[in-house]
Amino acid sequence: MNLVKKVKIIEIGPRDGLQNEEKFLETERKIALIRQLVECGFQEIEATSFVHPKWIPNLADAEQVIQEIIDLPITFFALVPNEKGYERAKQSGVDGMTFVLSATDTHSQKNLNRSTEESLKEIASLVKKAQNDDLQYRASVSTVFGCPFEGNPGLERTLKIVDQLVESGFKRVGLCDTIGVANPLQVFEWMTKLKTEFSDVEFELHFHDTYGRGLANVVAGLEAGIQAFDSSIGGLGGCPYAPGATGNISTEDLVDLLREMKVETGINIDKLLETSQNVHRFIGKDLDSKVWRVDRSGSRYIST
Ligand code: ZN
Repeated sequence: MNLVKKVKIIEIGPRDGLQNEEKFLETERKIALIRQLVECGFQEIEATSFVHPKWIPNLADAEQVIQEIIDLPITFFALVPNEKGYERAKQSGVDGMTFVLSATDTHSQKNLNRSTEESLKEIASLVKKAQNDDLQYRASVSTVFGCPFEGNPGLERTLKIVDQLVESGFKRVGLCDTIGVANPLQVFEWMTKLKTEFSDVEFELHFHDTYGRGLANVVAGLEAGIQAFDSSIGGLGGCPYAPGATGNISTEDLVDLLREMKVETGINIDKLLETSQNVHRFIGKDLDSKVWRVDRSGSRYIST
């Protein structure tokens, strides 16, 4: 196998994970969780979302969370859906914005109340603002590999979307398998093509584990030369507008896999598993992470 030596893991549990939890996690606990994640070695964390609190009440404390963590020496991103969200995020002092859109119109209408084309226009104007305000930014495209309403949108559609994002000034583009239907062959073929077409773009992959293909898709991404992945501690997450979708790939399982394959992540797995235990206590249910389960049973295999 021809694997990259080093990858960046963007921890998105505090945003993608917590937004889908049934109950509200108290602000102090969110802050404690993020502080502990920083100690694990993450360089980038998506800490919250500036979506209207009416839609995502779990993250209604976005400003408070950012204000309490922003002095920590890593890069914090927040999800931003529109101009209003942008202004709130900017005021909070966050380091970077994750601008979201959907690859398919039906998911886009349900999730963001606008078409893919309308999203691309709105985001293009937000990128200009981010550049003027000297903020970092990345795009996050949902339903790239499959949509609960429209099926497989096809590679051509993604090529067009990425082209428009590049035109708008994006250098980092996240492609999300929102409902976990991608497979390794598709990921390898699509990412190989995308990397050839857009050699200057830093692609980031975001997988869900609905059908248990999440980590296999990561390996396919690695083989295609992808060096950045989103994941969520405890495999928390889902998508309210994608019926049946389960959580994101678990950060514990991802870090463990990469470590065993001698791919560097900079994350301390022992500290990470201590953090998982806290998440387990905070949310009061078993985590969707295989490594966490094994670790808890006291029988974790440790290779040297
Ligand atoms: Zn996700």
